[in-house]
Amino acid sequence: MATPIPLDLDEGVAEPIFGIDLGTTNSLIAWVPPGGNDPVVFCDERGEGRLRSVVELTTLGTGAVGDEAVRLQPAAPDRVVSSVKRLMGMSPSDVQRDLAKSPLCIDADAAVVRIRVGEKTYTPPEVSAAILKKLRARAEAAAMLQVSKVVVTVPAYFNDAERQATKDAARMAGLQVVRLVNEPTAAALAYGLHRLVDGRVAVYDLGGGTFDVSILRVKDGVFEVLATCGDTHLGGDDFDRALATHLAPDLGVDPTDVRAFAALVTLCEGAKRALSAVDETTLEVNGKARRLSRAELQGVLTPLLALTAGACTQALEDAKLSASDVDAVVLVGGSTRTPFVASFVATLFGRTPLCDLNPDEVVAQGAAVQGQILMTGATDKLLLDVCPLSLGIETMGGGVARIIHRNSAIPTKAKDAFTTYADGQTAFLLHVVQGEREMSSDCRSLARFKLSGLPPLAAGLATLEVTFLIDPDGILRVEARELMTGIEAAVEVKPTYGLSDTEVEAMLAAGLAHAERDFQTRLQVEARLEAERVLQATRGAFEADADLLQAGEAEALITATLQLEAATAAGDGALIRDRILELDRVATPFAERRMNRAIAKALKGKRV
Ligand code: AMP
Repeated sequence: MATPIPLDLDEGVAEPIFGIDLGTTNSLIAWVPPGGNDPVVFCDERGEGRLRSVVELTTLGTGAVGDEAVRLQPAAPDRVVSSVKRLMGMSPSDVQRDLAKSPLCIDADAAVVRIRVGEKTYTPPEVSAAILKKLRARAEAAAMLQVSKVVVTVPAYFNDAERQATKDAARMAGLQVVRLVNEPTAAALAYGLHRLVDGRVAVYDLGGGTFDVSILRVKDGVFEVLATCGDTHLGGDDFDRALATHLAPDLGVDPTDVRAFAALVTLCEGAKRALSAVDETTLEVNGKARRLSRAELQGVLTPLLALTAGACTQALEDAKLSASDVDAVVLVGGSTRTPFVASFVATLFGRTPLCDLNPDEVVAQGAAVQGQILMTGATDKLLLDVCPLSLGIETMGGGVARIIHRNSAIPTKAKDAFTTYADGQTAFLLHVVQGEREMSSDCRSLARFKLSGLPPLAAGLATLEVTFLIDPDGILRVEARELMTGIEAAVEVKPTYGLSDTEVEAMLAAGLAHAERDFQTRLQVEARLEAERVLQATRGAFEADADLLQAGEAEALITATLQLEAATAAGDGALIRDRILELDRVATPFAERRMNRAIAKALKGKRV
């Protein structure tokens, strides 16, 4: 194998960023070669771009990866892992259903899934890292340069734990993930749909074992996932089994004979593929032959495709769109090669889907396109996702100061300034929250951190600048800095950790449903706080400078104070505000005299 050498890059030419599709069944690596325009998938020595996502585990470390591991699987099913993507970021209880019939030995009491081989255990990211290393070696050998920066694709529905696990896998393979990109977004990028000024795209992804449909909105180069739906246990493998069940009687195969049936399933997969190119094919088992036509296959597939139609309808409904609102449909996944699948999707959406690119490679190609965009710094196309919920901090009284608004394109950065509420306050307690509600108790608490060590100052003198930064993978960093002293603190939080899309939607819906009531509550709380502050300041002024009060002023001030206290006790926000204004009006001449005295005192003995 060729030794990777650093590419002789001209000064200022950025290092290439490779695109990786880390798939459940197959994984691929691609790039846009320097000076080129189109993405190219790296192939193995047989010209095959897909690497089977299957890994052999030994008591010493990971072994064979890809076809070689597939060959070992029948003899060593307890230590050859396929579909490891389903285990990423999961706890053993999360994957009970997936692993119920699995020959793998999983440590039941660990926090994350651990696959045991003798004394050694492997986490899913470690297994995925073996796949990534193999892809990396393939690209390095072909491109003759070191592969370090990558864009990796993940399903749109992956949560933070699953995304983090993917990044961990890349790190273990010595790769730096420059960006995680949603698979449907990558597919749309491969077709150049980021150039749509404002469009809606449906991505129909039917692979061997999974089905996903995503509805995306593209606006000025920014992709937003409006809805996703699917079935993680529906795909081409089900087509093969359904076909085998359909043909078994004619071919004399007993469906309860596990070996014979498995052999028929493999035969059916071949026949299904053949029918993507020809109208008719023949299957033979033990000397018995059976002809199979496209039309017959179509009959077998129809009930399964109806399930995907249900998911598409649901996704459109969730996105509040109808099929006619969709501007482009993209086909992804090997199973969309069946002509009937493509025509079924065309009927479903009322438009011919885009299928010119190889459906197995389109996600990896899109990742490579994204890599090139990031490398060349075409900033107008950098923004590929949005922040699904607003982010802010809790303010005195339990309100929320929103700093990053929902649907802001990420990466993003925003800041706001705050001040101290009480005299002598030496610390700020920052509570970072996420959601659309007005009160922090109705939002999702993300993190709490403290900025302490401030000198005791009068209320309102310290200025706290709070900055929110969301990186391209959706990870939030909050920085707080007191401007006078320069004291600072920061925290890194994961805004969508553990939140399912349904939960995000529920939080959005709650924000809308309670908007008016929340707003009133917030106004009331803020008015009450302001009243308390004003009353406290008035009492303090009375005590300190009573001698400055002129005839009748004390009585007017006391009346205004009592009225404000009564309004505060009644909790009427509008009345409180009126009473504050009134107290302010009455107190202004007195306040001016106090100010003059303070200035005179400060200047005493100083020459100007
Ligand atoms: P994927 O998971 O995207 O690699 O898709 C794998 C599925 O695509 C398997 O069920 C294959 O049988 C199916 N497949 C691959 N090539 C073809 C083809 N030419 N026609 C129909 N199905 C295919």
